[in-house]
Amino acid sequence: MNIPFSPPFIDQAVIDEVLDCLRANWITSGPKVKALEYELLSLTGSKATVCVNSWTSGAIMMLKWFGIGDGDEVIVPAYSYCATALCVLHCGAIPVMVDIMDDFTIDPVMVKNKITAKTKAIIGVDIAGLPCNYNELRKIVNDPQVKRMFAPATAKQSELGRILLISDAAHSIGATYEGLPAAQMCDVTIFSFHAVKNITTAEGGCICLNLPTPFDNQEEYSFLKLYSLNGQNKDAFAKSKGANWRYDILFKGFKMNMPDICAAIGLAQIRQYSKTLLPQRKSIYLKYCEAFKGYDWFIEPTMKDETREASYHLFPLRIKGITEVQRDQIIEGLVNWDINVNVHFIPMPMLTYFKSIGYAIEDYPNSYKQYACEISLPIYPQLLDIEIDFIVECVIDSVQRVRKVNDLVKVFL
Ligand SMILES: *Cc1c(COP(=O)(O)O)cnc(C)c1O
Repeated sequence: MNIPFSPPFIDQAVIDEVLDCLRANWITSGPKVKALEYELLSLTGSKATVCVNSWTSGAIMMLKWFGIGDGDEVIVPAYSYCATALCVLHCGAIPVMVDIMDDFTIDPVMVKNKITAKTKAIIGVDIAGLPCNYNELRKIVNDPQVKRMFAPATAKQSELGRILLISDAAHSIGATYEGLPAAQMCDVTIFSFHAVKNITTAEGGCICLNLPTPFDNQEEYSFLKLYSLNGQNKDAFAKSKGANWRYDILFKGFKMNMPDICAAIGLAQIRQYSKTLLPQRKSIYLKYCEAFKGYDWFIEPTMKDETREASYHLFPLRIKGITEVQRDQIIEGLVNWDINVNVHFIPMPMLTYFKSIGYAIEDYPNSYKQYACEISLPIYPQLLDIEIDFIVECVIDSVQRVRKVNDLVKVFL
């Protein structure tokens, strides 16, 4: 039984929607993107939703939109995918990394300690789909003392008058916070629709805007649509209509728009998301928890508490008391059974590039601790019950083998 880690969800509805796009003879940004933005608007209750060609593009565009550049600081967790920090570096700013808590989310106390007069934004990452402690992060950015320290350098920064709160929601579409869509908790929330995410457009992303007054979110939406399309006042779809060929370039935009052919994939998925696809992920999470709960080595991932409920994007299994080497041995055991797993994430300070610019994992002990004992198990709607049972059996077997060897070594030492 070969079990892939996270195959895309492609059913007849997805195929039909893509065929519809091909037959309409319009494959780049147009009606499918509009329809996807509309679905995202109703799913998240955001004030505006802008589709782009990746999470990374969306993040770079929003940091630039806020005027973040040379010498500015953006606080990010050390425990994330590289994009969370690379988007900051691409703007010429400095990612100030902080450690995470045991639920994988950024530690608000550490965030507060790292704020300086140069801090322009905070990016929280909803690892595995679990929203960060956004109430605490909101308190921090609105704290009068923190606001007094804020030094606006652009019109947008003056308008907001405080640090911009961004959610890296690459994993958390559909997650809730105090019963509401979690995407409403931050000024800017960005989803990823990369091929391995809960909703995919092959490559893609969406910026959800929830900017406070005096911002006009509709106006910002219109601006961002142009910003993601070279600053061109008419998109190709508008230009294709009749005598609409003449266009103008209003400012120095990016080329980050989402094509319709991609949007079609996500559109067919999102229509089934809340009622079917998300509950299916949750039920797999519950099955794993039920199967592992009797074992003393099992650390149950937090996916729900009084305030939050995750989108169940990952099942981040953690095993008590093992080393990084033993974790790798357990993965080897699973790979031998043809079960594909992953580790989310290798903390950024452990990666060559980040080491070369001065980050060191020793400064983020909890990130290392969580990483060293983590294995992400397959969790997706197409996963069959017999496959889940097989994964459970193999995990238990693989963990027990490695622990037995460890006990034997202890006896001989
Ligand atoms: C996937 C991912 C990203 C990057 O998304 P892209 O759409 O590939 O740019 C960013 N952050 C996290 C936490 C991710 O998992």
